[in-house]
Amino acid sequence: MSDFYHGLFRSHTGADGRTHLMRHEAGPARIPCPTTGRPLRVATIDANTAAICPACASHGQGGFVSFDGDLRMAYACPECRQLVWVEGA
Ligand SMILES: [Zn+2]
Repeated sequence: MSDFYHGLFRSHTGADGRTHLMRHEAGPARIPCPTTGRPLRVATIDANTAAICPACASHGQGGFVSFDGDLRMAYACPECRQLVWVEGA
């Protein structure tokens, strides 16, 4: 189950019966870029954040990842179990 999101997050079911994403304590410092395969260094991780998934449009308690030297962010969706890449501003 830690294969989801490159091991950056782990999911657990909250008291409300919904899936929440928590930061994985032993998560990697880098994950591969989805287009080039180049390792991107993780800068910040915000877990258990209410958001709407850009891929499946569901509301969830997901996680955001930002990277050093890269404007993109990745959203970890607890519903479709994808790491969805979002263009930065
Ligand atoms: Zn989704």
